Amino acid sequence: MLQRRLLHTAKACLNKPLAPFTSTKYPKLKRNPCYSKITDKDVEHLRTFLTSSDLIYEKDPESTAIAHLNTDWFNLYRGSSSLCVFPKTTKQVSQILEYCHERQIAVVPQGGNTGVSGGAVPVFDEVIINLSKMDKIRHFDPISGVAIVDCGVVLEQLDQFLEPKGYTVPLDLGAKGSCQLGGNVSTNAGGLRLMRYGSLHGNVLGLEVVLPDGTVLDNISTLRKDNTGYDLKQLFIGAEGTLGIITGVSLLTPKRPKAVNVALIALESFEAIQKAFVLAKDHLTEILSAFEFWDQDSVGVVKSQLMQKSKYPLEGKHAFYALIETQGSKREHDETKLLEYIQLLMEKDIALDGVMAQSSDQIKTLWAWREKIPEAISKSGVALTYDVSMDVPLLYKLVKDTKEYFSKKDMLGPGKVYSNLIGFGHVGDGNLHIMANLNKTDSDGLKLMDEFIFSWAMKNKGSITAEHGIGVAKVQYMHRARSATQLQLMRTIKRAIDPKGIMNPYKVLPE
Ligand code: FAD
Ligand code: ZN
Repeated sequence: MLQRRLLHTAKACLNKPLAPFTSTKYPKLKRNPCYSKITDKDVEHLRTFLTSSDLIYEKDPESTAIAHLNTDWFNLYRGSSSLCVFPKTTKQVSQILEYCHERQIAVVPQGGNTGVSGGAVPVFDEVIINLSKMDKIRHFDPISGVAIVDCGVVLEQLDQFLEPKGYTVPLDLGAKGSCQLGGNVSTNAGGLRLMRYGSLHGNVLGLEVVLPDGTVLDNISTLRKDNTGYDLKQLFIGAEGTLGIITGVSLLTPKRPKAVNVALIALESFEAIQKAFVLAKDHLTEILSAFEFWDQDSVGVVKSQLMQKSKYPLEGKHAFYALIETQGSKREHDETKLLEYIQLLMEKDIALDGVMAQSSDQIKTLWAWREKIPEAISKSGVALTYDVSMDVPLLYKLVKDTKEYFSKKDMLGPGKVYSNLIGFGHVGDGNLHIMANLNKTDSDGLKLMDEFIFSWAMKNKGSITAEHGIGVAKVQYMHRARSATQLQLMRTIKRAIDPKGIMNPYKVLPE
């Protein structure tokens, strides 16, 4: 269901004006002339091992058949590729890369295309290698819980496959109906339960990767412990397709919890959220699986865009809301613990109101108010997304400071830069999302907002990207976010693996 809905939304952007070209947004980016341009002869060669339905070649990149593949889910980034290929096997990925390497044709790997940093779409005319047809679950071991899957398996499909076996996926995110395992690993996606299950750097046990020259690196281990030399898979986790194409993933999956409980509480300040978070760790200890928060403006956007007919689960208007989830094995015990926790919050005047879901449908509804936030604000206009991380006490100060700064800013006229600025995120991971509808669709507002938020995060010892990655969106900030030594080492690795620079150029590493 969700998958169809998200894909529909992605296509729906075709009815809106298409996003400006990424190269217009970032005029300093110039096409690197060392890359060959695609010719009919190249396409002819690719057709020798790809069927006609596995390849789209449109000389006009704005034609309907290829425009949506050139545009990201948020309709913020757009390239002008005339060629998209859909390999079905690792061998085909290898043949494509071997050929592109020899001809020095630049490529961009594309999974579910739900990424937030413009990493999965071309900047210029890079060939799009869309992995959605590599969608087989290769193997599952019910003893260890290790699943081996093709890169194009959709996260929610894997979860549905695991459900009757009593297992679940160790990561969950709002885009689960469209994002793919290869994309998740390549972005090192965080999501809603990182505080419980940890990051993909721990849960991915092995990878199969096609290197830029077509060599297949079979590193698809199923071992939890293996210290034989450098841990090569870690290089590709979070590499955003700049080092190779991940074709297979070996993933450690946890047992599906027998009891899941969810509560929603209302609070009047971010200080109260911090107190509630500490108390949740104290009182719910090992069963606490998620602690998410959002502000009142987030509720307004979801209500007006996607849930007009739904009644908000709590009465009145409150400054903040927090969703607390427990996952455990004893329903009664967990329910009592969560109920006691809510009572404690009320007694201590930390929470103003609270509700606990009584059924799995109610659990879904409470989660919907959180999960629909990004989709809702994207529906109400051109939406910018930030995913900074920092010490928890500072999280919401950034939202307040951003609003204050832009209310005084007169460069574009007060209030002209954005509307609907909202703050929400993963308290448990110190990860804040700020999203805003940009009023001016030219690059001025975007630049002002980027500069303010990224500088603020760096000044406060935070990260400019906790989970979405650098892509093309933040590449110009890498000089400030990483030291010269760090950047030098990253370039050395990139050159060693991809000497011709064909993998996802213009992304992650600045020139
Ligand atoms: P894509 O967007 O297709 O690609 C992302 C990057 O990975 C690109 O650089 C691409 O080149 C590269 N890539 C893709 N597949 C491969 C491959 N097989 N081999 C090599 N490189 C590859 N992210 C979070 O971390 N946490 C969240 O909570 C979260 N919530 C979201 C909610 C919504 C509604 C949406 C739309 C997005 C959300 N995201 C979130 C962002 C996004 O869903 C994740 O980044 C996701 O992991 C991307 O997966 P994908 O398959 O769509 O990858
Ligand atoms: Zn997130």
